[in-house]
Amino acid sequence: MKNIYSKLKWFFQKEWKRYVPMLFLLITISFIALLPAKLLGLAIDTIISGGLTSKTLSALVIGLIALPLARYLLSMVYNYMMNYEGQKLTYELRSDYLDHLFSMDSKFFETYKKGDLISRVTNDMDAMTIAATSLLESLVFNFTNIVFAILIMGFTISWKLTIISVSIMPIGLTILNIIRFKKRKYVRIHREIYAEMTEKVLESVEGMKVIHAYVQEEDDLKKQHHAIERDIESWRYIVRFENWFNPLFEVIYGIAYILAFGYGTYLIINQEISVGELVTFVSYVGMLMNPIISMSSVFSQINNATISVDRYDEIMQAQAEVHDDSDSIPILDFHTIDFKNVTFKYPFDRYPVIKNIDFQIHLGETIGVVGPTGSGKSTLIRQLLREFNVTGGEIYIDDVPIQEYKIKDVRNLVGYVPQEHMLFKKPVNENILIGNPNARSADLDKAVKIADFEKDINFLTDGIRTMVGEAGNTLSGGQKQRLSIARALVKDPQILILDDSLSAVDGTTERNIIDHLKEFRTGKTNIIVTHRFSAIRDADQIFVLEKGVITQRGTHSELLKQDGWYKNQYIQQITMN
Ligand code: ADP
Ligand code: MG
Repeated sequence: MKNIYSKLKWFFQKEWKRYVPMLFLLITISFIALLPAKLLGLAIDTIISGGLTSKTLSALVIGLIALPLARYLLSMVYNYMMNYEGQKLTYELRSDYLDHLFSMDSKFFETYKKGDLISRVTNDMDAMTIAATSLLESLVFNFTNIVFAILIMGFTISWKLTIISVSIMPIGLTILNIIRFKKRKYVRIHREIYAEMTEKVLESVEGMKVIHAYVQEEDDLKKQHHAIERDIESWRYIVRFENWFNPLFEVIYGIAYILAFGYGTYLIINQEISVGELVTFVSYVGMLMNPIISMSSVFSQINNATISVDRYDEIMQAQAEVHDDSDSIPILDFHTIDFKNVTFKYPFDRYPVIKNIDFQIHLGETIGVVGPTGSGKSTLIRQLLREFNVTGGEIYIDDVPIQEYKIKDVRNLVGYVPQEHMLFKKPVNENILIGNPNARSADLDKAVKIADFEKDINFLTDGIRTMVGEAGNTLSGGQKQRLSIARALVKDPQILILDDSLSAVDGTTERNIIDHLKEFRTGKTNIIVTHRFSAIRDADQIFVLEKGVITQRGTHSELLKQDGWYKNQYIQQITMN
């Protein structure tokens, strides 16, 4: 773990042309802040000595007005610059973070929860920005303030008095900072609990419909309360340390005052200092209190920010297992795909979901994949999306291992229609065009036609421009499926994968879509995962997957001649209809 400032060095190096004048301004402001007390002491001594003339009086008054005014103006310039830097840093951190998230693979998103990822880009990032701006300011301002005050006290009033009254402060501070240091562990725990709480809230918001439908509000609230209580509990530890700290400091400070007054009066009696000087001196002792308190809390806040920067860095350092190399090969089309002895286990599972899979498919073929729920059909075909690396065997596209190709290129070969549909709060046409933002309107029309979505569009209030409600409220299940199919088709992919994407459409619609695929996708590959045999009757190859293993393969008529899952299920399905 490194200090936050060394972690943010890149930013300071880039911005030094602004930071140097800013620091200079800050030091000037800190010095100006100390001058009025000095003037006040001078005024008192002039009055006592009877040497007050109208000339000295007006000089003093002008000084007392000019100094705060100068401070005000300089602060204004300074604050403007500091805020600018803060915004800039937040912007850069946030865009780097998002960029990085986009480069991560599925394993990463299974490792980190959404709420956690969000809290790192909000809370933690705020803490980092504060460290680079107001904490740094506090550090510099207060430090120079303390140093200047002590120098003025020592050089212009009395070193003896300064040493006696001020020396107790750092001693007390050191002890207290050690105690505070221990607080950090609790801060880290608190951050983690906070992230969990965020996760819970997210879950509830996302699952609101299900929660309502199953009248789970009370249960859910209970869970929320529990999370909030844990959050408060973890915060309580931190507050306990704070409570320790503050009163103890007041005591130490009181002693410094007593020493300054007591010994100062003794020095006046011995005529070593004047009354005005003691007034100045005591003001400075008073002025030291705030900087010292701030300084010590600044250190603990910097520590907190260091935890934040570590949490941010953890994400930024995470390497996707699925990533491009400098020599990744481009691919625009393919002829054959070979699965050779492919085995795959999800990162956090114990056993593989698909085992020793062997097959070859060619451009232009239609492939059917069937099998019981949970047998690994989705897992098998999603391997073409390069979400994970396979754990055994090898997938080849045109005899080159799939991981040697550019990931984006491989994904661009595929139009994947998932089981669960993700619709965005956009008009229908824009939802479809996500598949290919550059598609011409003829492409859009064609995709809509193949997906047999045309007839629905006429019934929508604004036709193809109808807004899709949040999470797809305005469309039926079958319409959502067909919209998703159109989205995949609009990019006219070499490989279209329908992952159980016809489950919510009726038999006629299914027939239409299958016919359209045959008509418009000649020379392209279609992979159809389905529970309905009608959809794959004409497939070139059908794979039956059971418990992650291909148990049967062939065409529809070949499979009907074999005893096995396919024939059994087929007979069941036709007798049920
Ligand atoms: P199918 O599509 O045939 O219904 P899946 O491929 O979706 O089957 O799932 C096969 C098995 O893999 C199931 O037991 C499921 O619980 C498991 N599985 C699916 N996705 C994940 C995942 N992301 N992490 C761990 N296990 C998973
Ligand atoms: Mg599935």
